[in-house]
Amino acid sequence: MTTTWPKVPDGIAAEYVPGSASAPQFVIVKIGGSLVSQKDRAGHLDTDELGRYADQVADLWRAAPGRVALVAGGGAIGHGAVRHLEPGDPFASLDLTFATFTVKWAWIEALRSRGVRCFPVQVGAICALQDDVVVPQTTVIDELLRAGALPVLSGDCVLTPSGRLEIFGSDRVPGIFLGGPRAGRHVRVAVLTDVPGVLADGPGGSRSIPYLDPDDLDAVAGFLWPAAPHDTSGAMAGKVRALGALAGAGAECLILKGDPGAGDLRFLLDPVVRWAPVKPYTRIARSR
Ligand code: ATP
Repeated sequence: MTTTWPKVPDGIAAEYVPGSASAPQFVIVKIGGSLVSQKDRAGHLDTDELGRYADQVADLWRAAPGRVALVAGGGAIGHGAVRHLEPGDPFASLDLTFATFTVKWAWIEALRSRGVRCFPVQVGAICALQDDVVVPQTTVIDELLRAGALPVLSGDCVLTPSGRLEIFGSDRVPGIFLGGPRAGRHVRVAVLTDVPGVLADGPGGSRSIPYLDPDDLDAVAGFLWPAAPHDTSGAMAGKVRALGALAGAGAECLILKGDPGAGDLRFLLDPVVRWAPVKPYTRIARSR
């Protein structure tokens, strides 16, 4: 069967310029689980590959200590912990805390061995969810950053007012950084995954949609293909939804392809307009 992918509407095909000329004051890098793990292999985590990304993260931290945080994607370990949950048990997703701590600790070990002062932060211990909005207590994060350390976070289960633990996916975690001392600042969320943004030409394609308006995410729905059965967070559809919400709250969000062999990540500290024209990405941000 041949699939015909919709034409990119004019509104999202154009390069997006407003707001792209300023440098971010704070950068959250999320390294997607698909870069360090085969998600269809139970418990799989490639620590050698993770080490190569840790080189890039360590270098970025050295360039901007106190202005960078890391979010680790769950990969096979994270997704595996919540694939089959008992609906009658309000604490059924608790295993996710252990699973994502395991992944966080692999990152901490890799970063520490590279001389990075880093600390694993348990999202469920500093956040609650109210009306599906994350309410964080960021004192620990703020103090870590003030000390020039690198906070390392991941998805987790988070308490709701009904006393139920809800899954809080890693693509939503950067929202924790949008308040406190960073409120009103230019906060950039750079999500590295196994594709160079939202593709307009289907699986295996190469045409990244350069810009998505957070107020018009439906425009991209026709380009998203269904998530694999092992995925629990909706793959790109879940990512677009999560980043759209962060962009609506003021963040500049970018989806990029991770590549540990392609130099360092210092470009993430620069305005997008200064990036090499060949670097493909999808940017989700409000015009200011
Ligand atoms: P994790 O959730 O473990 O951190 P991740 O964030 O690296 O993983 P996914 O959540 O799997 O990555 O999202 C990337 C996947 O989204 C791609 O591998 C691709 O299969 C899927 N996808 C669906 N539609 C599209 C699209 N239009 N363009 C690009 N990728 C898409």
